[in-house]
Amino acid sequence: MRPIDGRGVPRVNEIRFEHVWKMFEGNAVVSDLNLGIRQGEFLVLVGPSGCGKTTSLRMLAGLERPSHGRIWMGDHDVTDVPTGQRDISMVFQSYALYPNMNVYKNLAFGPKVRKEPRATLQQRIHEVADMLGIRHLLDRSPAALSGGQRQRVALGRALIREPQVFLMDEPLSNLDAALRVQMRAELIRLHQRLENTTTVYVTHDQVEALTMGDRVAVLKDGVLLQVDTANDLYEHPESVFVGEFIGSPRMNVVPGTLEVTGDNIFVECLGLRSDLSHELAGRLVASASNGPVLVGIRPHDLHIKGESSNEGPVMPVIIDICEHTGTEIFATVETGGMKLIARLPRSPTPQAGESIEVAFNRDRLHLFDVTSHESLLQREAQREHITIATSEPVEEVEVLKS
Ligand code: ATP
Repeated sequence: MRPIDGRGVPRVNEIRFEHVWKMFEGNAVVSDLNLGIRQGEFLVLVGPSGCGKTTSLRMLAGLERPSHGRIWMGDHDVTDVPTGQRDISMVFQSYALYPNMNVYKNLAFGPKVRKEPRATLQQRIHEVADMLGIRHLLDRSPAALSGGQRQRVALGRALIREPQVFLMDEPLSNLDAALRVQMRAELIRLHQRLENTTTVYVTHDQVEALTMGDRVAVLKDGVLLQVDTANDLYEHPESVFVGEFIGSPRMNVVPGTLEVTGDNIFVECLGLRSDLSHELAGRLVASASNGPVLVGIRPHDLHIKGESSNEGPVMPVIIDICEHTGTEIFATVETGGMKLIARLPRSPTPQAGESIEVAFNRDRLHLFDVTSHESLLQREAQREHITIATSEPVEEVEVLKS
């Protein structure tokens, strides 16, 4: 039996997209989306512009009908349920406040239209206004509010409905950088206060996604590539795209070669040959084969030689450009005609044109299939033996179980 909330409304246990497609003019803008969102979860849909985030959210809201597939809220198939009958509230990038109504009236508008009881309305408006810190603004018109204040009123309008599911589409993108950071924190706090409310949040900003989401779903060209916690997305990208999209600065991805010699596994890239660390060797997928691969090295893992205990071979590079972030410096460096981004210490201050020696952390390489661009590393070292396919007779390589 489904749990019942304080208003006698059955609670939505889980939201599920089941094989959902959306076609516009014969083009699939969402392709076979399968995604479960847990009750109370803050799930972020992230991806570059045009990847289908908003369309997915609009299908969940009932503003678009899937071309194929079903959408479930708990055990209720809502695919054909009109927006008004789904227990959801939406906040969009545009605040959509009524300019001729003050804040109080803007907050009261929805409940009045829905003919909700008036007796408790004032108290609810005050509660929501207190929660958002806008009680002192109730008499103001939207024109007399700052961007952040308007955004809070828009949130208040969604909150007053006490939804089970909150849908937010880039709600912070109109705010300046400082306010965006502040509102991010406020939204997380708000979500924590509204214990069982599920939030689905759309953004193209991977920093916003990583800082806010309990889990983050990465979309590209209408396809869901990976859904994971922020940490797992960063540590275990399942594809080159996720590796490059998540993390700033962007992951360096260079061509390389995987090579098995006797009991050892080597990676050759950037003109250097390095044996694969025990940890990574234990995580190689069974299908990994001798031959070309793509090697991912995060800028945080490419540093001045001598900085990490498990370094690969030293690489001479020339500094091209330095970007100061305040706490560290990321430098574009050149080696063998290739440009890479490396993290350098602030002191001594690196200079453009300077020759330095850098090395990568051998434990933190990422390996991808050169054709499918999928990761060749599984998350845990589980197998005691891995078999590396070679053009010669198959070799079995002993790998310690970690
Ligand atoms: P953004 O971050 O730019 O908002 P998005 O990931 O949210 O992008 P969507 O708005 O879902 O992307 O759009 C996905 C694709 O579907 C885009 O190519 C867009 O042009 C197309 N699209 C969206 N709505 C329609 C429509 N009503 N008719 C035709 N094409 C549409």
